[in-house]
Amino acid sequence: SRTSTLPQLFALDSLLDADEIAIRDSVRDFAASKLRPHIADWFEEARLPARDIARELGGLGALGMHLEGYGCPGMSAMSYGLTCLELEAVDSGIRSLVSVQGSLAMFSIHHWGSEEQKNEWLPRMAAGEAIGCFGLTEPDFGSNPSGMRTHAKRDGDDWVLNGTKMWITNGSIADVAVVWAQTDLADSPGGIRGFVVPTDTPGFSAPEITKKMSLRASVTSELVFDDVRLPASAMLPKAEGLRGPLTALGEARFGIIFGAMGAARDCLEAAIEYAQSRQVFDKPLAGYQTTQTKIADMALEVGKGHLLAYHLGRLKDRGELTPEQVSTGKLNSTREAIAIARECRTILGANGITLEYPVIRHANNLESVLTYEGTSEVHQLTIGRALTGSEAFR
Ligand code: FAD
Repeated sequence: SRTSTLPQLFALDSLLDADEIAIRDSVRDFAASKLRPHIADWFEEARLPARDIARELGGLGALGMHLEGYGCPGMSAMSYGLTCLELEAVDSGIRSLVSVQGSLAMFSIHHWGSEEQKNEWLPRMAAGEAIGCFGLTEPDFGSNPSGMRTHAKRDGDDWVLNGTKMWITNGSIADVAVVWAQTDLADSPGGIRGFVVPTDTPGFSAPEITKKMSLRASVTSELVFDDVRLPASAMLPKAEGLRGPLTALGEARFGIIFGAMGAARDCLEAAIEYAQSRQVFDKPLAGYQTTQTKIADMALEVGKGHLLAYHLGRLKDRGELTPEQVSTGKLNSTREAIAIARECRTILGANGITLEYPVIRHANNLESVLTYEGTSEVHQLTIGRALTGSEAFR
């Protein structure tokens, strides 16, 4: 595990209580012993032993971490954020597994599901015995999911699902998919409803998306629904319209606010360590003013990003966090993290382009993190709307 003086610059631990520090440290230790030694290989080989990792994360209480009941750990949002931060300090792909499982799939079932759906899926998902995915994005509809074409039609009491989802994390390894589809239900704005789809249902397939240069240690898939017949009980009864998926996305974005700062911290620590040992023109690279100004500027952004994340974490635990604040955090953390990763890469010179160091891996991963869960532009528009009262999406 890396030890650095970086968090001390902002006295970050003084903002956490003993329980939060203990949870953070246990995740950090787990990540250092079980994930970090393998992550470069998993990234290079584009594979992730997701089932084994999910069980271990379940044992740590990291899945559905701040959900209550149904076998979920019921911890604070702050603890969940710190967990995301430590996992993403290893790799955004691992944090993505946790975000999608806990904040998207489990949260949707927990928040919008029936008792039967909750009892069937949540205890196994919290334990990491069952893996979930969340299908909202389609090939032609990403930032604007209201245009989605996937639809569920009534046939007697059943629903018959047809369509295609794209870029779905955990898709090919999931036991259950939470899928958003158009219906002709008049009670729902836009008719969009959520469905809990066991992935062994006939007509469901999830081909994996390959040749990714980002989030390689994460499974990303297409979901194809070819006359997937579901019982009436498969619909999430309490989610009407886009409010359903957008509420879940807010939860996952919250984790990214912390997570991306973990990736940034890891890059900066790696760059400082490298600069201390690398000799250029007869002295350590760390001893040059240009290196130190880069390091100092990046440390400010890492520190400020942590402070914002912690502040938003406290707001969330008090039930006061607004969607605009989530957009502010997500935009700041991802944009600063990717800028830091790229700047750190310059400090590592040619070595920075290899998987011997974490920096290019984080930089490539952060390209996805910048895009998913609302692109930076979409969050700018959300903040702009809040500040000006003018809607600029269309
Ligand atoms: P587009 O919406 O086509 O956007 C393209 C560009 O246009 C962007 O720069 C965008 O900011 C800009 N743009 C769009 N609208 C506007 C506007 N109104 N004004 C100005 N600019 C605009 N989705 C899921 O449902 N589940 C998942 O598990 C999931 N996992 C993912 C994993 C990975 C690795 C990736 C890369 C994506 C994943 N996604 C997932 C999809 C992700 O949420 C979408 O990629 C994202 O919403 C953006 O959609 P898009 O790619 O279609 O881009």
